[in-house]
Amino acid sequence: MSAKPQDLPSPLPHFVDGEAFAGQGARSGDILNPATGQVSKQVAFASGDDVRAAIASAHAAFPGWAGTAPAKRAQVMFKFRELLHQHMEELAVIVSSEHGKTIDDAKGSITRGLEVVEFACGIPQMLKGEYSEAVATSVESYSMRQPLGVCAGITPFNFPAMVPMWMFPVAIACGNTFVLKPSEKDPSCSYRLAELMIEAGLPKGVLNVVNGDKEAVDTLLTDDRVQGVSFVGSTAIGQYIYETGCANGKRVQALCGAKNHMVVMPDADLDQAADAVMGAAYGSAGERCMAVSVVVTVDDSTADALIEKLAPRVKGLRVGPYTDATAEMGPVITPEAKDRINGYIDRGVESGARLVVDGREVTVSGHEDGCFVGGCIFDNVTKEMDIYKDEIFGPVLSIVRAGSYEEALGLVNDHEYGNGTAIFTRDGDAARDFVGRVQIGMVGVNVPIPVPVAYHSFGGWKRSLFGDHSIHGPEGVRFYTRLKTVTTRWPSGIREGAVFNFKAGGEH
Ligand code: NAD
Repeated sequence: MSAKPQDLPSPLPHFVDGEAFAGQGARSGDILNPATGQVSKQVAFASGDDVRAAIASAHAAFPGWAGTAPAKRAQVMFKFRELLHQHMEELAVIVSSEHGKTIDDAKGSITRGLEVVEFACGIPQMLKGEYSEAVATSVESYSMRQPLGVCAGITPFNFPAMVPMWMFPVAIACGNTFVLKPSEKDPSCSYRLAELMIEAGLPKGVLNVVNGDKEAVDTLLTDDRVQGVSFVGSTAIGQYIYETGCANGKRVQALCGAKNHMVVMPDADLDQAADAVMGAAYGSAGERCMAVSVVVTVDDSTADALIEKLAPRVKGLRVGPYTDATAEMGPVITPEAKDRINGYIDRGVESGARLVVDGREVTVSGHEDGCFVGGCIFDNVTKEMDIYKDEIFGPVLSIVRAGSYEEALGLVNDHEYGNGTAIFTRDGDAARDFVGRVQIGMVGVNVPIPVPVAYHSFGGWKRSLFGDHSIHGPEGVRFYTRLKTVTTRWPSGIREGAVFNFKAGGEH
């Protein structure tokens, strides 16, 4: 029988060395149900010593796990995949009850994580390396990828299942051990995933979870035993993680904030574009790093026609708790997030944008203290406005009217963020030009949220990613491994005498 979220202990402990670990930390935090605004449980906050206990466990487990054949490591991933399917309902309720997203959306996000696990099942193929016979007489060269050691993952609130699974399955399949620090706002899913990994046959210590805040993160960033750090979250924190981690000699990838523009050309299929905007702007209450938060229309008639299609649908969005199967959009994460989003809407109005649909007064009967914000549309947004410049991370869409394709492209390229973008058009020339010239990491053509599948890699440009590697897929394997290149001479007895000159390839 599956555990229910309420069956998980409170305060939620850490998970160290294969079991629950209460730790010595004196602090704890509240976990809210965003649909009710009520505290549902507590989570323990790790002290520095608690985090060091998790790192010590991962460090001790590393030699044995790194020495386990990749095919054996993959077997754990196969079993974990089965367990994820078996526990899908339970995990979705855990995600929705702490994050607020609808159950179907939670399942979709778990499935996206599960696909990374499937990618990790094929790790022997990814670690095969390269071999060159006879690079010189009796000399061969080969390269291989070896795990880094203890890796850490620091994850955001908006995808409590998927983002941790962007990280630890690939890291662990590559032979690393892992310490995960999930968001303190919705940490229970990570704890449950760690339990399931043990059930799948993972040796204790290979995956540990520590809960907490800056104290836990700073310990991970400064401990010499941690070799690699993956971060997903906001840009200000990501930049800090990147700089601090690198200053402490670690490999760091920090995937950060976004302001994703969807360009709608005059020849686009506007019904298709309107459908796309609905899901991409308002799904998960806009709390997605790939949410479309700006639509750039090329010419006024495109804007007018699109707004006419969107406005009634946004007004009619069904907002509700995850327990309401008909809800299309859940609450935002906390009362503070709701206030911040409403503050942006106030400022948008003050700055002269036209609020076509106002979601500020939306309430849900029986959930009056829930953190609900209705869908909003602003028209006539300009690039000087805060609602355009900042990531609002809520269900607020800005429409910017561009006079030409070049102006639209310039807007996308001038924005500080570079996570995702899309163009909607029937014109192959325009689409091709856009794909080539746009300064963004993930690009869609008539696809609004171009999230790469698990066997490609996910990552933005500009201030949406610090570090050289995107996450999961081939880039994930590169991040979690180091390249070693070996040159051998067999038979070993061939003598050339002492050689003092550097030689051309082929003359070792
Ligand atoms: P956040 O930056 O507040 O928190 C992320 C993690 O950092 C959490 O685990 C948190 O505990 C930790 N943290 C927070 N403050 C810290 C500090 N001062 N020092 C050290 N650690 C700290 O982000 P969030 O609000 O949880 O998530 C939303 C953000 O994540 C948005 O900006 C969104 O765009 C971004 N995000 C990006 C991607 C991507 O792939 N680019 C994916 C999902 C979310």
